[in-house]
Amino acid sequence: MLSVAEAQQQILSTVQRLEPEAVSLLAAVGRVLAEEVYADSALPPFDNSAMDGYAIRAEDVAHTSRANSVRLPIIGEVPAGHPIDLELRAGTAMRITTGALLPRGADTVVPVEETDDGARGASALPDAVTIYTAFKRGAHVRRVGDDVQRGEKVLTSGALIRPAEIALLAAVGHDPVQVYRRPRVALLATGDELVPPDRTPGPGQIRNVNEYSTAALVLRYGGVPLLLGIAPDRLEDVAAKLEEASGQGADLIVASAGVSVGAYDVVKDAVHAHGSIDLWRVRMRPGKPLAFGSYRGLPFFGLPGNPVSAMMTFEQFVRPVLRVMAGFAQWRKPTITVTLTEAIHSDGRETYARACVERQADRWMARLSGEQGSNMLGSLARANALVVVPDGITHLDAGASAQAQMLDWPEDLGSW
Ligand code: AMP
Ligand code: MG
Repeated sequence: MLSVAEAQQQILSTVQRLEPEAVSLLAAVGRVLAEEVYADSALPPFDNSAMDGYAIRAEDVAHTSRANSVRLPIIGEVPAGHPIDLELRAGTAMRITTGALLPRGADTVVPVEETDDGARGASALPDAVTIYTAFKRGAHVRRVGDDVQRGEKVLTSGALIRPAEIALLAAVGHDPVQVYRRPRVALLATGDELVPPDRTPGPGQIRNVNEYSTAALVLRYGGVPLLLGIAPDRLEDVAAKLEEASGQGADLIVASAGVSVGAYDVVKDAVHAHGSIDLWRVRMRPGKPLAFGSYRGLPFFGLPGNPVSAMMTFEQFVRPVLRVMAGFAQWRKPTITVTLTEAIHSDGRETYARACVERQADRWMARLSGEQGSNMLGSLARANALVVVPDGITHLDAGASAQAQMLDWPEDLGSW
């Protein structure tokens, strides 16, 4: 029997990240950057005002105070986006707005609040302005290149593109963006008992849950689901769906059910026609059996049929593959330390217990979210975390610390 970590390593040793593709700026959100990005210009691109106010020379207000104010004639105006080709001479001022190019000759901006213009707001340009405060040279001026120098590397290949990265890409005019391609995941449900979710099951039938739950996981983790639908427990039906998967350009195939030793478990034979597959006994609960192999060169997963097991094995084994294919350097689910409000028992296999994790005072507290059977979907829907009982441990006491993989943070869950 393999440990979870051994199974993850074996699986990941067979997969590689996908090739880069060019996407438009906004389509890059949540993707992994596949190029180095250099600034085509400095940021800010020119000296500009950080305030609405008056562009001046600092030396003209060097000794200014409330009691000793200075009055300067206004020789022009520079709104943002309308640079002025007029030099600011000593002893004069120009009205300026935030983001406007600082006129030649000016070195300082006096905020409008520090002048007699403060109360008037937007109005006709006055003839002169009274200044009440002294300012250091450069005050309220944003210098060219303060943030980024022209030609500087602003983003490194492998970075996750978040809104902040989009901001930088937009600022340096980098559109389109090279990102790693999103994995296309063909999803297949197998079983004579299955009907689509929009049908009322007849006697002995159940609805196809796994194809939709795993498709939702594919979406959540940045892949593109290709729904192949239900294949009955017949070799030729499963074989036809597998051919469809490779024909549709899938990067990976994920089937559920039909991989144990049941009399109608035909998935193995269907995969063997054009690939190989091993039935793995992984020391994980819920989880076994898990099949892994390849079909026409594509990684192939045969997840357990029980819906909770299918989702849990997806989290631990398919999710890492999606992350690696999509270009992420890290594939491990981060964990936090929680305190158990109740004991958790295990049979010694690495156990992923569905739990509710909430912040209480200075600690994260975890309680089980309900019945832990591998078919019990309710407790999964009530959970926001998986508390991990490590391999070889059969008992964690109430009050003990444990590691939890967070599926969601409580504040994101509304009335949960
Ligand atoms: P099997 O692996 O075929 O023995 O299936 C194990 C259990 O999972 C059985 O109770 C199946 O009915 C159930 N099952 C299989 N596929 C699905 C599915 N797509 N959605 C919901 N339950 C399923
Ligand atoms: Mg079956």
